[in-house]
Amino acid sequence: LTCRLPRDTRVAMEMDGKVVVVTGASMGIGEAIAKVFADAGASVVLLSRDAGRAEAARQRVGNTGRTLALACDVRKREDVDRALALTLHDFGRVDVWVNNAGIGLYDTAAEMDMSACRELFETNFFGMIAGMQAVIPAMQKEGSGAIINISSVAGHIPLPFGSAYSASKFAMNALGKAARLELRRANIHVLTVCPGFVSTAFSENMLASRKSSIRPKSVRGVSAQRVAQAAYRGYRKRQREVVVPWTMIPVIKLYQLFPGVVEWGMARALRNSR
Ligand code: NAP
Repeated sequence: LTCRLPRDTRVAMEMDGKVVVVTGASMGIGEAIAKVFADAGASVVLLSRDAGRAEAARQRVGNTGRTLALACDVRKREDVDRALALTLHDFGRVDVWVNNAGIGLYDTAAEMDMSACRELFETNFFGMIAGMQAVIPAMQKEGSGAIINISSVAGHIPLPFGSAYSASKFAMNALGKAARLELRRANIHVLTVCPGFVSTAFSENMLASRKSSIRPKSVRGVSAQRVAQAAYRGYRKRQREVVVPWTMIPVIKLYQLFPGVVEWGMARALRNSR
């Protein structure tokens, strides 16, 4: 008895033939998102300010036959346009664009350095707009696409000593959700992902950190992989927003209804984190 297997025995994967671009993919959440999409069969382009860091992440992500690493500073529109052009040249299309590049700043609203505050907005907010404005025409041409914006729970609850960071994330949430409605008819889906505390090098990479965060030292946060999987699920289900971990959803609702209760909790957390 002979049993013949078809020549191509590789099981078809959900993202076969799709092309995904991730900004700030050299580490942390961006790298984890690149891996989730690559493992699902997509071709993935990993962007970072530093080509070497992007390439190292590409090697860790694996699937190197259908991934690409490029230098791209999201504060520079010409970098974003170049990354898009090289992606289209190599892969012919973009199905998903992930605006993940982001940076933090812990300082008081009264005394924070305004050049750091502007730099923060250039990355978190204007960098996201640059990505969207660059990729939307390519997606309109294809007749479909998805944009995933990595925001934060801080885009729902303003954090003490994280006022500028929270403001940039509130701005991201507003822009992404408004654009979602504008782009619906073009069949372009916009997803906003709001992680709580995530265990990455984010705190070490801050622009400035003159004050401590409200995060108690004992709280490590969820893993970048968990955030990436939640983002992927949200993309597959065409959701408006994903909050991860889900336990932050009632906290956001509580803040909307009774902000004083959550502020009391944050004041306590601030005392404990010192
Ligand atoms: P991370 O480990 O510090 O990674 C940040 C990434 O952004 C790096 O890959 C960095 O790459 C890139 N980046 C920074 N500035 C850039 C620029 N101007 N142009 C291009 N890339 C830039 O932090 P993370 O925790 O993974 O954060 C990723 C996103 O999640 C951010 O938007 C952050 O606000 C958000 N978030 C994080 C947490 C958390 O607790 N960690 C919680 C909620 C939301 P290079 O340095 O190589 O350029």
